[in-house]
Amino acid sequence: MGDGMSEGAAVTVTCQRCGQVAAGFTRPPFPGAIGQRIVAGTCTGCWGQWLKQQTMLINHYGLNVMDPQARTFLTRNMEAFLFKAGEGESVDTSKQGTVSW
Ligand SMILES: [Zn+2]
Repeated sequence: MGDGMSEGAAVTVTCQRCGQVAAGFTRPPFPGAIGQRIVAGTCTGCWGQWLKQQTMLINHYGLNVMDPQARTFLTRNMEAFLFKAGEGESVDTSKQGTVSW
């Protein structure tokens, strides 16, 4: 019933990360140009994965998200995670040296 989609109810996007046509965002979940790129090429599922990854990074590196440097770090990682730009930083055990256990 009803072929008119209410605006913003169901958008799909060809996701750059998973390569699938999947549910996307109607409004950027992140500010600025990156937010626009997310709307254009990131599905909500992959964004959710990034949020988990981000939490992991914050915990792993003990980041203070109020710290501009930490934000820059996270933004770079987000771009790599979602768009495979640059070198993707994963929580790499070879970097254990920077963390005291
Ligand atoms: Zn995706």
